[in-house]
Amino acid sequence: MNTKAIAGQGVDIEALRERYAHERARRIRPDGAGQYSGLAGELAEYAKDPYQPVLARAPKRDTVDMLIIGGGIGGLATAIALRKAGVRSIRIMDQAGDFGGTWYWNRYPGIRCDIESHVYMPLLEDVGTFPGWRYASGDEIRQHLVALARKYDLYDEALLHTQAIGATWTGAAWSITTDRGDVFDATYVVVSAGGVNAPKLPRIPGIGEFAGRMFHTSRWDYEFTGGDHSGGLHGLTDKSVAVVGTGATGVQVIPALAEYAKELFVFQRTPALVAPRDNRRTDKGWVKDDAPGWQRRRMENFLQITSGAKPEIDLIDDEWTRKAAFLNKQNTGTWEGDLSDPDAELAEEIADAVAMEAIRARVDDIVEDPATAEALKPWFRYFCKRPTFSDLYLPAFNRPNVTLVDTAEHGGVSRITNSGLVVGEKEYPVDLIVFATGFEVGSSSLMTGALNVVGRDGRSFLEAWANGPRTLHGYTTAGFPNLFHMSVIHTANNINFSHMLQIHAEHISNVILSAREAGAAGVEPTSAMQDAWQREIEKTARNLHDFHLACTPGYFNAEGQPTAAAITYGPGPIVLRDVLARWRQECLPDALFFV
Ligand code: NDP
Repeated sequence: MNTKAIAGQGVDIEALRERYAHERARRIRPDGAGQYSGLAGELAEYAKDPYQPVLARAPKRDTVDMLIIGGGIGGLATAIALRKAGVRSIRIMDQAGDFGGTWYWNRYPGIRCDIESHVYMPLLEDVGTFPGWRYASGDEIRQHLVALARKYDLYDEALLHTQAIGATWTGAAWSITTDRGDVFDATYVVVSAGGVNAPKLPRIPGIGEFAGRMFHTSRWDYEFTGGDHSGGLHGLTDKSVAVVGTGATGVQVIPALAEYAKELFVFQRTPALVAPRDNRRTDKGWVKDDAPGWQRRRMENFLQITSGAKPEIDLIDDEWTRKAAFLNKQNTGTWEGDLSDPDAELAEEIADAVAMEAIRARVDDIVEDPATAEALKPWFRYFCKRPTFSDLYLPAFNRPNVTLVDTAEHGGVSRITNSGLVVGEKEYPVDLIVFATGFEVGSSSLMTGALNVVGRDGRSFLEAWANGPRTLHGYTTAGFPNLFHMSVIHTANNINFSHMLQIHAEHISNVILSAREAGAAGVEPTSAMQDAWQREIEKTARNLHDFHLACTPGYFNAEGQPTAAAITYGPGPIVLRDVLARWRQECLPDALFFV
């Protein structure tokens, strides 16, 4: 690839690299991930459940076969697979007041799934749900998950509004303790809670001083705003409102607030990459192939396209599948060829530049005020941050009641006073502050120690992982029998995380069922199995360190300070699924133990 070819595409790649580096440099903060705080201590009040009251109940003292921590998609999929195989004693536990996981907590106005519902919503054919929209509302997804829990009879044994705080291996089972005073035994424990469930707030000086109303998007106060997820926020028609954050959540919530607030100030630090959405109503005819098994086939098609395979047909044909080449470069390191070839690397960078230029041109096309349009343009590479999709977000800035406040030069909002937000020296008085500032992504209670797990020989889980994760396939750890963990660590990843959770659930439930069939007391990987998987991860993990190091900060790159640790299984989910099936056939007997 020579400079002539580059010029032929109209891309000055050197100038673009400089611009991206400049934007990164002005955004980077020395405090990295430390700029955020979880909702604990004096912020604990902001973590409270605004949707359902916590009801008094007597502590449980009993024994169950399966304890599944997390009532979201991963927990439900595991429970349902076990239930279908005839397991009766299944307890799901969740801090939330109902099933739904992230869709329980996130009910902000405008909430929609950004993956096509027909491949995202699990087990549609089990309950006969057919999504009413191509990208369903959060409420539709939550109702579907509740319907699954009902159909598979998961409410009776469930412990909701309950957090497990201790799990100790007794030699035959796990003894579980909770924050509601429960003490019970479970033969198997599956932890599927930690995707995007812990909200975070920026440590903005003065945040505790604000005298108006303030909440995180995952704890929406509809009593204050009026309305529901679909709109009708009439409580805001005489209010000045601030939103902090313009990520995937901000992009969805801002148009909804703009419609009702007297005035809306959008505090932006890094502009989002906003691609077209093209949402529409769907009925059964829309998917064309609706013969039994249609959802599985559609999910597979999406998984293949977004994991580097090239099926003949793209059934989904949306912005994710059209940009799959960028995803594949991230996940599998391929770009129509060998990326160790510098020409291929440059070709990919140019394609990225062309795609980002189209995103920036779209801002100019839609946003009328030139200064606002300029400030809304993202200057980073595709997949430096999660792309967002909206046909409503950019037009919202043409409304007279909406003001974009660019905080980039100041590293974010400078201060909060008792009456508003300050950027530099300018104060913006408001009645309500909505924090669309995201989540502690991917850290489950097992990994933070909020669930204190003590395995064989009194060894704690945190000790076992003191020098980094130690797992077989990401799910199990030697010394912790019958304990399974779903996360993004030591496993493959896919943008349809719901499908990944279903792949995890299928494997875990198969392993547990095989152990029961064999009459085993349980299953635990040997150290040798674990070491072999560690080597496999190190051998195959994509090295994205350099890419992330050049990216504008965010949770994808540990706020601009990425580590080079090998975390992900490089060949991707389709190969992983085969690896897991072969392991179950050939190696599982060696992991069983008998009393
Ligand atoms: P993000 O972490 O993506 O975004 C947080 C936003 O807050 C960023 O714009 C960030 O700016 C901004 N911010 C943080 N601190 C400050 C500050 N001090 N001053 C000003 N701005 C600040 O969180 P989201 O909730 O938007 O998304 C999290 C994840 O949740 C998504 O990536 C996605 O995985 C999931 N999600 C999925 C959806 C779906 O439809 N499937 C919908 C919504 C969310 P900066 O970029 O500069 O850090």
